Amino acid sequence: MEKIERTEAPGWLNEKWRQWGEEWAAKYAETRKSSSFQWRRNENKGHDDLVKKLSTMTQHHCSYCDASPMGPRIRCTIDHFKPKTRFPKDAYKWENLFLCCGLCQERYDAFDERLLKPDRDSYSFEKYFDIDWVTGELKPNRDASPEDQESAIITIKLFRLNDNGKPDDRREELEVFEKLETREIDKFSYRFFIKRGQI
Ligand SMILES: [Zn+2]
Repeated sequence: MEKIERTEAPGWLNEKWRQWGEEWAAKYAETRKSSSFQWRRNENKGHDDLVKKLSTMTQHHCSYCDASPMGPRIRCTIDHFKPKTRFPKDAYKWENLFLCCGLCQERYDAFDERLLKPDRDSYSFEKYFDIDWVTGELKPNRDASPEDQESAIITIKLFRLNDNGKPDDRREELEVFEKLETREIDKFSYRFFIKRGQI
């Protein structure tokens, strides 16, 4: 999970997010169905504009595992960092939205206040994480405070950063990257791994 610099909220969203959040909260209280959620439109803009803006922030990579759309298993979705069922009023809040792959999206409404948010000022990969170069797994940084290590463990668990063959995928991606002469890192998945692992 690499640090993300968040850009300004789109004006069309800023105008409406509070109202839409209230409306969704009321609808969810009634239906209790997360599937009844819909992206909304204002000034002719909606879901596609959000995907475009969020993609620019991550160069089209998943905000959490950094899989890229060129990778084998990515499906671009918008994730609610604070799940829309548990925090319905934040469902359209710009700071709560992240580009996310299908696998990371599978945490559904799992959330913990200690979960690391990649666009937070205080976040950096090094502060919280370390890499096991033999297995390709992420580990909490042992020099971090116990609280920070706990946050790293929770983040690895909820986003399943060491599951679904991701550790092996990262090592393979690094190997392929090192064999190429033109190394355009943004075309690769797991850039945090490649950047720190390349010879
Ligand atoms: Zn992902």
